[in-house]
Amino acid sequence: MISRSAFETILKEYDEKQLNAARMQQQKRAWIEEKVPRLKEIENRIAALSVNKAIARIAGDSSIDASEEIRSLKEEKKTALAAAGFSLADLEAVYECDKCHDTGYVGSEMCSCLKRRITEVLYDQSNIKAILREENFDTFSFRYYPEGQALDVAKQAVSTARRFIDSFSSSDENLFITGGTGVGKTFLTNCIAKDLIDRGFFVVYLSAIRLFDILSDAAFGSRKNGAGAVSAELMKKYIFDCDLLVIDDLGTEMVNSFISTQLFECINERLLAKKHTIISTNLSLKQVQDNYSERVFSRIVNKYTLIRLLGDDIRMKKKLEDWDAARRD
Ligand SMILES: [Zn+2]
Repeated sequence: MISRSAFETILKEYDEKQLNAARMQQQKRAWIEEKVPRLKEIENRIAALSVNKAIARIAGDSSIDASEEIRSLKEEKKTALAAAGFSLADLEAVYECDKCHDTGYVGSEMCSCLKRRITEVLYDQSNIKAILREENFDTFSFRYYPEGQALDVAKQAVSTARRFIDSFSSSDENLFITGGTGVGKTFLTNCIAKDLIDRGFFVVYLSAIRLFDILSDAAFGSRKNGAGAVSAELMKKYIFDCDLLVIDDLGTEMVNSFISTQLFECINERLLAKKHTIISTNLSLKQVQDNYSERVFSRIVNKYTLIRLLGDDIRMKKKLEDWDAARRD
């Protein structure tokens, strides 16, 4: 979970970036003015003419039209700069992000660069980063799936996952990954999350228990007296706004009507906003229908691609192998 101080650090980084860009611009400007002494003069004249023009327009006086002079002064400015080896662009500030000018926002929307930065910090702070190093497509192995149906299904699942990633920007596909304990649901989900984080998408990864904790804190106010965590409201915003929301282990939380409503609201809002969601769960679709609501069930059936993994408990198999290898050493 991203902490409040971590979030503040990110905002400070952005302030710092803007300051640096402004400082850099001033220094460049001073340097250019030194080489192009006429620059300041031309600019002052343009500014004065523009003010006159504006005043005349407000007063409805059409006799003063400085447009032509302004145009020729601008031309002169360009020529004077060029003669000294500069261009108009050299007078502009240079930002790391052209979209938001290092403010982190485009209008009221978070810029993709800020989302990426938050994702990085989210993953730096949680153990998910270490997990993702271990669990990704490079380390995914089919050898734990028994020959036959389980293996076929696993191969199919991986190709669905890859398609999901490749068409991430152009589709609004969602995944419902179901199967028994230890068949690789979380592993597959981690593979997808890792890949999309590497591609710079804003991914929020939460266990169902944590997700509903946050949503209930946001609804009823935090019981935790803000123990250094980012406010539930802000976290809720991430949950609704992120490019990919992963809800891991749906069904492990205590289900009640509040949770059922929150789940519906969350997946429905994200569907409307065409944002992707992955749900991984031990529950069958029938259990989703019984435990939550008809509405939740119908959204998942109609809007999610179903991946049902089969096989034995892979964690158990791995442990057995480790134990066997250790025994032989
Ligand atoms: Zn930006």
